[in-house]
Amino acid sequence: MTSAEDTPPQTICPECQGDNLYAHGGINARGGYGPDLLPGTSGVFSSAKMQTIVCRDCGLIRFYATRETLARITPDNGWRKTR
Ligand SMILES: [Zn+2]
Repeated sequence: MTSAEDTPPQTICPECQGDNLYAHGGINARGGYGPDLLPGTSGVFSSAKMQTIVCRDCGLIRFYATRETLARITPDNGWRKTR
């Protein structure tokens, strides 16, 4: 199945300008024993999902919340806009 969430947001590394990027979807934002990276965005039965992009040239790692998770970034869940 292909969706927008499977498409990496960028194909060029912003750190080294290389194009040796690898994406992995379906990363849980809330681990069993780790911090909840996106509080308030997990559902009752499923954790919020992120996509990870890693550059195999310089090692830069970036995380992107999926669209479903972004929809839960609201003031009701404790999120405030920074400007
Ligand atoms: Zn890089």
